Amino acid sequence: MRELESFKYKISSPQKIVITTHHKPDADALGSSLGMANYLKKKGHKVTVITPSDYPYFLHWMKGNDEVINFEDKNQQPRAIDLIQNATMIFCMDFSCTNRLQDMKDHIEKSNAYIVNIDHHQDPKDFSDFRYWSTKAAATCELVYELIVEIGDKELIDKDIAECLYAGIMTDTGGFRHPNTTKNVHLITAELIGIGADNSRISRFIYDTNSIDRLKFIGFAITRRLVIMEDLKTAYFAINKKDLRKYNSQTGDTEGLVNYALSLDGIKIAALFTEREDGVKISFRSTEDVAVNKFAASYFEGGGHKNASGGKSRLSLQETTEKFEKLIKENYNILFNQAELIHEKN
Ligand code: 5GP
Ligand code: MN
Repeated sequence: MRELESFKYKISSPQKIVITTHHKPDADALGSSLGMANYLKKKGHKVTVITPSDYPYFLHWMKGNDEVINFEDKNQQPRAIDLIQNATMIFCMDFSCTNRLQDMKDHIEKSNAYIVNIDHHQDPKDFSDFRYWSTKAAATCELVYELIVEIGDKELIDKDIAECLYAGIMTDTGGFRHPNTTKNVHLITAELIGIGADNSRISRFIYDTNSIDRLKFIGFAITRRLVIMEDLKTAYFAINKKDLRKYNSQTGDTEGLVNYALSLDGIKIAALFTEREDGVKISFRSTEDVAVNKFAASYFEGGGHKNASGGKSRLSLQETTEKFEKLIKENYNILFNQAELIHEKN
């Protein structure tokens, strides 16, 4: 953490603020962005949240959702670019490297605004004037809560802000199940519930608003698209474009699917390969004793947390899963012995 005083000074006078987050925002990305936006608006700033893409329908209940600009929406893009160019401050929430902004990257990098980065991912790149960052935090929403308290504005956290922040902490801890569910997580969520966050309503919105298409898709994926490599303690899903079309897949419909593979007894590494227009998107998950972030960084242009990482591949879906199977075999001892990965040589 650095420059807290300069940050506090900066937000003590009205600013034109753009808040952004990573491509395909999840609950932590959107919750931290809207939680921060709602707080900064209360402080008298002009604030717009611009996301690099759309995000799942089950996040649309958050306060401020209706004013979010989706950069991929061509009708909205000129206004988004204008807001970025004129911003005096830009908040980058829940990502540690600007590649995750995709098409927004160049616009943000060109800006002369004061850049704030609030995040909990490993190995942050140095692109901000003020970084509020800790890998010990389970969620960026946890850091937003702590920053507001550190500024001395705890009383400005209202029910709407508390609900945005609660959502991110709940999902990034896998519903308070992952090893990152610390005492601090419970203390903060207790505070958020005390402020008025309706925890049961939020989990219903996020976990229990499936469409029948989505449920059928999950059933199909488990019966037809799950590959189990028992000897390698690894299981993965490979979902092609046709599968997505057949089940009328919406943004967010594949979220959480990878966890079914990890839930298998004896499986320690799980992956989900999803064929998209621009390549194969990959999610990696692992049990506590196995790290997948270096594997994702070394071989699949990605990274993330020890037990939850992501990446991509420009190969075909089949070539990608073949590459994955080969690499799991080759790296078996390293992965399961927690040794350092040797970087791929090409
Ligand atoms: P998910 O599988 O839910 O898309 O992503 C899980 C985690 O992996 C995210 O919280 C993020 O930390 C990381 N992640 C996902 N995609 C990427 C990527 O393309 N690059 C990097 N560096 N991290 C990613
Ligand atoms: Mn997060």
